[in-house]
Amino acid sequence: MTQQVATSEANYIGGAWEESRSQSHIDIINPATADVLNRVPLAEEADVARAVAAASKAFPAWRRTPPQDRIQYLFRFRELLLRRLEDIARTVTLENGKTLAEARAEIQRGIENVEVACGIPTLMQGYNLEDVSSGIDEIMIRQPLGVTAAITPFNFPAMIPLWFLPYAIAAGNTFILKPSERVPLTAMLLFELLHETELPAGVVNLVVGAKPAVDALLHHPDVRAISFVGSTPVAKYIYREGSAHGKRVQCQGGAKNYVVVMPDADLEMTAKIVSDSAFGCAGQRCLAVSVAVAVGDVKKKFTDAVVGMASNIRTGNGLEKEVQMGPVITPESKSRILHLVEKGLHEGGKIALDGRNGLNGGKEGNFISPTILTDVAASNPLTSTEIFGPVLTVNHSETLDDAIQALSQSAYGNSSAIFTSSGAAARKFRYEAPTGNVGVNIGVAAPMAYFPFSGWKDSFMGVLHGQGKDAIEFYTDKKIVIERWPKEWSRKF
Ligand code: NAD
Repeated sequence: MTQQVATSEANYIGGAWEESRSQSHIDIINPATADVLNRVPLAEEADVARAVAAASKAFPAWRRTPPQDRIQYLFRFRELLLRRLEDIARTVTLENGKTLAEARAEIQRGIENVEVACGIPTLMQGYNLEDVSSGIDEIMIRQPLGVTAAITPFNFPAMIPLWFLPYAIAAGNTFILKPSERVPLTAMLLFELLHETELPAGVVNLVVGAKPAVDALLHHPDVRAISFVGSTPVAKYIYREGSAHGKRVQCQGGAKNYVVVMPDADLEMTAKIVSDSAFGCAGQRCLAVSVAVAVGDVKKKFTDAVVGMASNIRTGNGLEKEVQMGPVITPESKSRILHLVEKGLHEGGKIALDGRNGLNGGKEGNFISPTILTDVAASNPLTSTEIFGPVLTVNHSETLDDAIQALSQSAYGNSSAIFTSSGAAARKFRYEAPTGNVGVNIGVAAPMAYFPFSGWKDSFMGVLHGQGKDAIEFYTDKKIVIERWPKEWSRKF
């Protein structure tokens, strides 16, 4: 039976929905209509302390639960995610603004992580060697850490929590999710489904809150590991503060992704893929292309082609079938993006596609339609800072070396891509581009769940990334056991 969640019961702690005693609340607003969808309390230190206590209490029995039994809950969770996919997608669209198709796709990518984590009985295995010295064997065992937590952003309300939760609990840890306070309704729905799996109380916990809840997690001595996804300034803060408090920390930060278009690229395919990458999810993806560098004489042809593609994108309420791009998350976000576009234009940039009036989006929502600029200087904030909106800049370089040099200037290193039909150019780019994810004729190089979600420079702080084998390493500690069993002792048998 699905448990009904009252608005004041936004926290799921120790296997039950809890009423927060917090005096501070936040309205959850539909970015397409400005309607208030819900009002939830923002967790305080005391709420987090109860979640950590519940997770600590659940840990000893959960880590002793055989991995094969632990993953049965994840198999059930996967079935529920599939069964309720449309409800989850609708919730994502309502509170985040992306289209239903985009919401369905992110849930699918989340489910893939649940599926990979179901391989834990194999993935978590250690290794051993007999006779490291005469009669002495050495064994490496992986053990769970204890209480772990993840702090997640607004832009993938369903998928990003699932980069962490399945691996953490499959490996025998207990877990606390602190989702973005702007999109907690999806997380609450995910926890309704987790409740239905009948996971033992305290194995998974949810606290809906803002900075005070994050700080309470960072400072709590019983939280062993923190995963973070969000903007770089917050990532740096969490990495610093979490490490100073003795925690294992992985922080995925912001991005500024470049794509290089070579003269030998298939222009029609390239324009379509770059347009999808720049404007999908209204540019609010950490892998969205933000700057296209056209090499040699291809700039005009590519700009015309990408403008042609982007001008056909219909902006509006993501619940409507024909809509291909939703709003940005808040009015403040819209003003910040428009301000950056103004700066680009003020300093010599030219507008190739003007979506600043939001066109057909509707006047209440935070709509900006696809916007394309050319000739923006490398030093301009539009080229150097993360925009996180539907804005693409097309610049020019004479050579591939110059293009790689241009993208290497970025403080970020999340993703880059090249479009070419030359193996040599692709190989050079793959070898030299200083980003953690690289696309070759791919616009959004999003790693599958069985590969780590990489990211370099200011886009990532830590050693082990989310997803794949990195996730197993992150959520376990290695124990080395060295055993002596002298030969003489076996003579007794
Ligand atoms: P954000 O940094 O504002 O918020 C992320 C989380 O941090 C939220 O849970 C929020 O409550 C918390 N938070 C915000 N300010 C805080 C503070 N001062 N102290 C402590 N906690 C704080 O990010 P956002 O706007 O929700 O998400 C967009 C950002 O996330 C973009 O920069 C985007 O590039 C990045 N992102 C990165 C990846 C990646 O894989 N590298 C993936 C998705 C999003």
